[in-house]
Amino acid sequence: MKTLVIHTGGTIGMVQTEKGFAPKAGVVEDCLIELQYQGQIKGRFDLSVAMPLIDSANATPQDWNWIATRIAKHHSDYDAFVVTHGTDTLAYTSSALCFALEGLQKPVILTGAMLPLTEPQNDGRRNLLDAMATARDCAAGVWVQFAGQKLHGTRVRKSHSSAFDAFNASPSSALPIHQAAEFRRHSYGDFNVPVLGATPGMSGCVVQFCAQRADGIVLRCYGSGTLPDSPDLTEALKTAQQRGIPVIAVSQCAEGGISLGTYAAGSLLQEAGVIDGRDATAEAAYAKLQYVLSRHQTPKARRDALAQPLCGEFS
Ligand code: ASP
Repeated sequence: MKTLVIHTGGTIGMVQTEKGFAPKAGVVEDCLIELQYQGQIKGRFDLSVAMPLIDSANATPQDWNWIATRIAKHHSDYDAFVVTHGTDTLAYTSSALCFALEGLQKPVILTGAMLPLTEPQNDGRRNLLDAMATARDCAAGVWVQFAGQKLHGTRVRKSHSSAFDAFNASPSSALPIHQAAEFRRHSYGDFNVPVLGATPGMSGCVVQFCAQRADGIVLRCYGSGTLPDSPDLTEALKTAQQRGIPVIAVSQCAEGGISLGTYAAGSLLQEAGVIDGRDATAEAAYAKLQYVLSRHQTPKARRDALAQPLCGEFS
């Protein structure tokens, strides 16, 4: 059993500095070597370390590409991959890897920590050990191992900002894998995708600004798919439709998702051809939009790809 550990940064490998926690080379690496020396990690592993290590708040789709490239390059050299990552954008990265690694045949386990390995009673050590163990006997796909739970890569969300048990995921009957007969990595390009949330008194002109310039929009609607049906918002969504840019609607509620057509106040979404994101998380919808924009060229191909589940991202 051989695992490639890809260390990207995040709290797990941070130290205290004058400005607060910041990544430091050697923290995760030393812990892994110590755990192996103690016999707590079974099998062999190699390390691939990002330069520089980052707080995941600074992650971009180019960082997703870097991780996906490491996995693709070594897909046949290792039995599994463990990715250590900051928790703030971990759910975006796990979704992005799921879409990008088509036909993945190995487990990819993302993990991190709420308290650095350099602090007493941290959760990093346990999460690291659990991730290494899960990598050994887990189905192919992109998973998040955190606080004793193995979670679906496109259904997961960070739901607590300080507790060790910081992640949860909605159930899914589909594996977190982009099925295909052959393994193939897709790259993320450079697209502008704002995530806009419906609010009381939402300004149509801000949405209009985005509709005129963005490459796609994630619209976080209320409950089962409503938003203020003001004339300027209707106008803005029509602009997006005329420009052929995809707009995908998801719910601000953590569970249940949207059901377009339930309320008259949501009818403008259907009239403007907004894509039904069902119960996808905003993180998965954002990563999928980036993936679809990067992979497909025409508005129709993009709409078709967004409307169907690729990796169990909606039920
Ligand atoms: N800000 C940190 C990060 O996302 C938080 C963490 O890792 O828990 O890199």
